[in-house]
Amino acid sequence: MSFKPKSLCVFCGSRNGHDPDYVLEAKKLARRMAEEGIEFVYGGGSVGIMGVLAQEVLAHDGRVTGIIPDFLQKLEVGHHGLTELIVTDSMHERKRTMFERSDGFIVLPGGLGTLDETFEIMTWKQLRLHDKPIIVLDCKDYWQPFEQLVNATITGGFAHEGVKDLYKLVKNADAVFDSFNHIPAVKEEVLTSHL
Ligand code: AMP
Repeated sequence: MSFKPKSLCVFCGSRNGHDPDYVLEAKKLARRMAEEGIEFVYGGGSVGIMGVLAQEVLAHDGRVTGIIPDFLQKLEVGHHGLTELIVTDSMHERKRTMFERSDGFIVLPGGLGTLDETFEIMTWKQLRLHDKPIIVLDCKDYWQPFEQLVNATITGGFAHEGVKDLYKLVKNADAVFDSFNHIPAVKEEVLTSHL
């Protein structure tokens, strides 16, 4: 199924990580989004890979929407040069708004917050609450433990093998855009096979 997103939400770290290639790949993704005219939706901070992405999209005349809860504005140093900054009352409202404003989700290297956001959006897809693509950018194999964890839920008998269709793992920023032509449909059995 071919897919042309108008907006993409990126889940990623509020730190840069140790390997400088994480930042380099994030910049490539940002440039590509700006070039393709895809709005970049994210958590609104100016720190870590989040901030790098926002800066790079803006530097290439792209559109950036940040969505940040009031209490995190100071901590994550809310970015003030964005095209649009939406301030929410809670984390839950932030995550719901990020979901509503985006046609798909990209996961870059990140920490626990990134994992939380990624698993939530995957479980919403498993529950058939949406059918938006979720692309995990496995830069320098960073997300191999994530892949192993998902595999363990299948071999342990806690997930249908079709959960592998909930997301697509790719190795670099260009592959993110190629993958939009090969998004698998999620089988109904993923939700219902054990009910
Ligand atoms: P991290 O990957 O931990 O650097 O966090 C990346 C993003 O996830 C940041 O915007 C955090 O505000 C957000 N975040 C952190 N903790 C949580 C959480 N418990 N639930 C949802 N988002 C979170």
